Amino acid sequence: MINFQGQLKKYADLAVQIGINVQPGQTLVVSAPIVAADFVHLITTKAYEIGASLVKVNWNDEVITRQQFEHASPEIFTKAPTWFAGEMTELAENGAAFLTVLAENPDALKGIDPERISNFQKTRGAALTKYREMQMSDKVSWCLVAIPSQSWADKVFPEVPAEERVDKLWEAIFHTVRLDREDPVAAWQEHLDNLEQKSNVLNAKKYKKLHYIAPGTDLSIELPEGHLWAQGDSINSKGDSFVANMPTEEVFTAPLKTGVNGVVRSTKPLSYGGNIIDGFSITFKNGRITHVTAEKGQESLEHLISLDEGAKYLGEVALVPHHSPISESNILYYNTLFDENASNHLAIGTAYAFCLEGGKDMTKEELIAHGLNTSVTHVDFMIGSPEMNIYGITADGVEEPVFLNGNWAF
Ligand code: ZN
Ligand code: ZN
Repeated sequence: MINFQGQLKKYADLAVQIGINVQPGQTLVVSAPIVAADFVHLITTKAYEIGASLVKVNWNDEVITRQQFEHASPEIFTKAPTWFAGEMTELAENGAAFLTVLAENPDALKGIDPERISNFQKTRGAALTKYREMQMSDKVSWCLVAIPSQSWADKVFPEVPAEERVDKLWEAIFHTVRLDREDPVAAWQEHLDNLEQKSNVLNAKKYKKLHYIAPGTDLSIELPEGHLWAQGDSINSKGDSFVANMPTEEVFTAPLKTGVNGVVRSTKPLSYGGNIIDGFSITFKNGRITHVTAEKGQESLEHLISLDEGAKYLGEVALVPHHSPISESNILYYNTLFDENASNHLAIGTAYAFCLEGGKDMTKEELIAHGLNTSVTHVDFMIGSPEMNIYGITADGVEEPVFLNGNWAF
């Protein structure tokens, strides 16, 4: 690749300045796999250059993670890791920003007892409740970015010679985060403005309900009163902007917890807890999941929706046109950060507090009273396709097209 080091530096700068937007005097917490060391060094350099007071890096490694799931004592997965949650919560309360670098092998935990994985997710989710609440209400800045690993690239490009796969994944990632544009920062500003225009239209419409029609899908989703459509850029409690996902192509809001009825069929595999769930359908009645069936990963899906009561309800409704750069690249990433931004999607679990008027300042109980879902989990799954039509139903009962054949109708 031409000038790879230059591109990598630009990517790190973009993550630090547009993604997490670290401020002088702020602590930056980076979670990253050891394969991302070069990239993380560029991130720490940039963050200190801007004036970060401390950059704290929490390293992880897929080999050690797998070993832990294979060999650690069972109680490790059911005991709350309070020291870890305590650290994250304290850092968040003191105004730190949180950048996560992903390089996940989608099959990292293939063959591991799903019970162990779900115990781990449940315990960790419960321990991190306070931190997650701050994250879901934009109290703290956070950002997810990704870099290739060999195992991930092997999964995405099996038809390409092994030694070329990582480069090919780099190229694809650089394209999705607009690093191949002449001025990536300006390209991001323009992109975020375009997404905001879509949110503005939907916020003016105040649809009461969305009706999804596609092969295998006939789903009605009620939206709560005072719901707000949001997009890529957010503002934290100090007034600083950040972009939580790089890439991002979605506009999204919160569904009314008890207002989801019908059936929805997935259109892309979901990589969840180191396993693949694919070809699945979910049936809802008054918001609650009543039935799931999956061609692959049935057990993982059942564990996901059994994490807690909130894992049986939806917490996010997101719109992404079929004509978006990630979708048009026709690459299946087996990584939700990318695949959700190629497709209309929904999320099982917690809703974002900022998707409700005044929600950022509401207590958990107030959010629940306004019809938002809460859970220890939040997992996006993809349902979009070129065959999908979505209709918005206004308070007066007028039905208008929002998406036709997988793309914006306006
Ligand atoms: Zn989303
Ligand atoms: Zn989501």
